[in-house]
Amino acid sequence: MNYSSSPVWHPFTQHLLEPVTKKITRTEGAYLIDEDGRQILDLISSWWVITHGHRTPQIMQAIREATEQYDQIIFAEYSHEPAEQLAQELIRIVPHGLSHVFYSDSGSTCVEVALKMALGYFHNRGEPRFKIAVMAGSYHGDTIGTMSAGERGVFNAAYGALLYDVATIPFPVEGREQQTLDAFEQLCRGRDLAALIVEPLVLGAGGMKIYPAVVLRQLKAIAEAHGVLLICDEVMTGWGRTGTLFASEQAGITPDILCLSKGITGGALPLAVTLCVPEIFEAHLSTDRGRTFYHSSSYTANPIACAAGLANLHIWRDEPVLQRVQNLQVMQSCELARFKNDPRFENVRQCGTITALDVKAQSSGYLSNVALRLKAFFRAHDVLLRPLGNVLYLMPPYCVTEQELQRSYQLIDQAADLLQSGKL
Ligand SMILES: *Cc1c(COP(=O)(O)O)cnc(C)c1O
Repeated sequence: MNYSSSPVWHPFTQHLLEPVTKKITRTEGAYLIDEDGRQILDLISSWWVITHGHRTPQIMQAIREATEQYDQIIFAEYSHEPAEQLAQELIRIVPHGLSHVFYSDSGSTCVEVALKMALGYFHNRGEPRFKIAVMAGSYHGDTIGTMSAGERGVFNAAYGALLYDVATIPFPVEGREQQTLDAFEQLCRGRDLAALIVEPLVLGAGGMKIYPAVVLRQLKAIAEAHGVLLICDEVMTGWGRTGTLFASEQAGITPDILCLSKGITGGALPLAVTLCVPEIFEAHLSTDRGRTFYHSSSYTANPIACAAGLANLHIWRDEPVLQRVQNLQVMQSCELARFKNDPRFENVRQCGTITALDVKAQSSGYLSNVALRLKAFFRAHDVLLRPLGNVLYLMPPYCVTEQELQRSYQLIDQAADLLQSGKL
């Protein structure tokens, strides 16, 4: 298939350079199975959504059952059991103190909701604040609002004129964490700052940059001291990726607002939630209709997606998922170890189940299309990896086996050799 034979415009795809090669006809565990019957190892969990594995039986069963009872239901004026129950159960497992759950349908949307909640909170208290602080190198989504909060670059250059101004604190580079904290403290003194939004522990799309939990903990303390809200965007880091159910847990904090999506249904259906502390909900509670939280997506709290979310939560409750996550973490570090001090790579790193390593530049301009060449190499070997520039990373579903990982890291070794010798 190519762009001239299909009307489909694929995401993040330059159709003149990257062929959309095959149709996937089935998924199973850690694999995508294409129309030729080839089994492709999904080492990036289909863009970070699949947690336990593709088509986890309990989740698919819950979806089948929900379709006997529901389709979309308007979520104003009415509610439904899957949404009520999922909200109750979420409150029990997220960091303590979050009290309300607002439903939406994608990571970008739940971040938009978070930003609107933060501004609405200050607006309704009669002390309007409009400034949002962000961490350099972050990614929060692809809508205009979330791109504004994310790193500026080639991905959003065309829309620059529409992006609103944010205050940026530096990424907490090892040894220079204090600069990040000082920069944030400085911003907080300005009194116009509404919130800081961060990806806790790992900046995903920005290149799998990892920083220690203690920095997050300190950022929360500074925010709290100045009455600034902390938004944790756990759209990627949630659901076990960093070794704990949520990354915020490792910092021992409760964010004022928490964004969850991707793995919330185990990756089976689109769903997102924005959770908040009571003060934020209460600031919108009034007989004055002007204080209403005016946000909705057509597919808010889709009952079938909520049922999938509930089934996912029950897997976490009933099965040793954290143990699986920890086993995967150990297998990943064993495999990664051989690349430490390897001259072909730098910044060999890991956070929980996620590993990443930078392919070293040989000459300027070299990195420009290294991602494309690597991607093609892995594709030829039936492995789905999509490097972010020169950053190779693995974010496998939790059902991946030791053997599959061994084979994958051998391929990385091979790819690096080919790049070195100019054969790739
Ligand atoms: C993927 C991602 C988003 C956006 O989610 P979508 O569902 O793609 O809109 C937001 N924040 C983070 C940290 C993400 O990784």
